[in-house]
Amino acid sequence: MTHALIDPWHLSFVLDEVLHAETLFELPAFAEHDRAGAAAIIETASRLAEDVFLPSYRLLDDNEPVIENGRVVLPPEIEQALGAFREAGFIGMVARPEDGGLGLPRTFANAAFLQFQAANVSIANYAMLNMSAAELLSRHGAEAQKARYMAPMLDGRFFGTMALSEPHAGSSLGDITTTARLRSDGTYALRGTKMWISGAEHDMGENIVHLMLARIEGAPAGVKGISLFIVPRKQLDSSGRPSIWNNVALAGLNHKMGQRGTVNTVLNVGEGGETVGEIVGAPGQGLACMFTMMNEARIGVAMGAVAHASAGYRISLAYARDRRQGRHPDAKDPASPQVPLIEHADVRRMLLQQKAAAEGGVAFALYLARLADVKAAASGEGERQDAALLLDFLTPVFKAWMSEECLAANENAMQVLGGAGYTRDFPLEQHYRDNRLNPIHEGTNGIQALDLAGRKVSMAGGRALTLYLAKLADCALDAARHHDTRPLAAQLRGLAEAVDASVRRLSALAASSGPRAAMSRAPDLMALVGATTFSWIWLEQASAALGGYDAATASEAERTRRHGMVLTARDVFLRCVPRAEAAAARLAGEAPPSLAMTDDMFG
Ligand SMILES: Cc1cc2nc3c(=O)[nH]c(=O)nc-3n(C[C@H](O)[C@H](O)[C@H](O)COP(=O)(O)OP(=O)(O)OC[C@H]3O[C@@H](n4cnc5c(N)ncnc54)[C@H](O)[C@@H]3O)c2cc1C
Repeated sequence: MTHALIDPWHLSFVLDEVLHAETLFELPAFAEHDRAGAAAIIETASRLAEDVFLPSYRLLDDNEPVIENGRVVLPPEIEQALGAFREAGFIGMVARPEDGGLGLPRTFANAAFLQFQAANVSIANYAMLNMSAAELLSRHGAEAQKARYMAPMLDGRFFGTMALSEPHAGSSLGDITTTARLRSDGTYALRGTKMWISGAEHDMGENIVHLMLARIEGAPAGVKGISLFIVPRKQLDSSGRPSIWNNVALAGLNHKMGQRGTVNTVLNVGEGGETVGEIVGAPGQGLACMFTMMNEARIGVAMGAVAHASAGYRISLAYARDRRQGRHPDAKDPASPQVPLIEHADVRRMLLQQKAAAEGGVAFALYLARLADVKAAASGEGERQDAALLLDFLTPVFKAWMSEECLAANENAMQVLGGAGYTRDFPLEQHYRDNRLNPIHEGTNGIQALDLAGRKVSMAGGRALTLYLAKLADCALDAARHHDTRPLAAQLRGLAEAVDASVRRLSALAASSGPRAAMSRAPDLMALVGATTFSWIWLEQASAALGGYDAATASEAERTRRHGMVLTARDVFLRCVPRAEAAAARLAGEAPPSLAMTDDMFG
């Protein structure tokens, strides 16, 4: 197998011809970097991912973390790989230079990070949590907190976690009950139980820094009463060195279907002694601050899904080219040689769905990363605000749509291998199991749909939706210039109209029948917007494939790859337009029968 779990041709094509990401280096915040340097970083990531992350992919599945003498023991390969990641400077890749980071545009940093996720997501998770925890502290932490906690995270000495969920409060974070009591020195004593916390107990590094949501005693019910705290595993002494244990007790491990190398814990705080935390930001602002990390994690989770789809695609493609089985339907001679699997129409269908998910996912992921870069660094206030709105609008769509489309891709990858795909001789069943988490965590896809329908479409007086529809219109206009993409451009216009009409219908329904009736349609709206967005992302790629090169001088191989992009876009439209239309029809129709089902009707 080659190390290219993320196809380098396609990655460069997206960065250079679809996103024109080199223009980011014209912004003062990124002027220290250039395209050649960014390419070298991505190449280093790809090599490191293959050499250091990939070899233990199966091993971590077979050897999940265990508790020995009250401590979590991880396979040493995790620490070795994270050490190499740190040594190569990847932890501070996107952190700001004033925080000691490299300040690379996220567009390129995420292109690099995808390599690690594709090679070994269980290890990449520790890095992702750490990097986004550091980012949260950079944005919301006090200067002293940055020095004491964020800087060691970026050095790789401390590890960050996000500690939100509780046994009775997963989707409904407003119901958390962990409490925080103000101490005389201005710190807080926390007490409660946290559930599902990833990367929260191990002996790597010098300390673990939990970013924990809790309720200050007397705070109002619901999300307005939630505050955010830094809760280190070991308290720091006055010189910032980890000293005494902070009573963050491991109550147990969760034994998971996949992503087993990422330890997942139940934690008790304030049991058998005080657990001391420092507040981040203002009281009651906890969830708002935490959204810095949650939004990044939502994108990171769906990038993980894309990485699994990419890895599965490369593996099943290689297999389909190698294994011979059967003959074409019109082959008359039973003694003629069997053909490679890739010759069969049904196998090509399954490969094409995977190519669409993997490459569409990479393009979608990096489009969002580019929005994050513009949001952070564009010179015009209006441009920054618009990028922020579009990013907010698209985040739940990327999370929900890509985690499902990429899981379907892993199913197809297994199916391409036939019986072999169902065995542990190939890593596809593991990719599938690992990937199955992504529709669940970081807000289930049901919750993402509620976010889209309940908040995002009406955000900023509907401006986010307007910006989105304008992007679709721009893409259709551009695609209409090429003969091959003109019919797709017309279809995209139709989908945009369906989105617009459906959102209006939904808001009328909310006004006439109340939010419960309207929100029962949220999954249909997600299906419509997801299919529309994915079609848009592919039409952008098809237009770029046709427009960005000189066909007369290009090599045969180059022409072939580009033609393949256009055919893939056509396949995406063939599959997605009917899905979008069906969702729009459901949104326009009667209330879903499930709404009328009473508990006892379920039998
Ligand atoms: C492996 C793993 C790692 C995780 N890592 C972390 C971590 O590091 N930190 C952390 O804080 N959390 C973490 N989580 C928690 C994760 O975010 C939650 O599992 C998730 O948010 C769902 O919560 P829940 O499991 O309590 O399910 P529930 O909230 O009980 O949901 C069950 C089902 O009901 C649906 N549902 C719930 N409420 C509604 C509603 N209002 N409307 C419609 N449908 C609804 C959901 O969509 C879902 O299908 C992790 C979870 C897992 C499995």
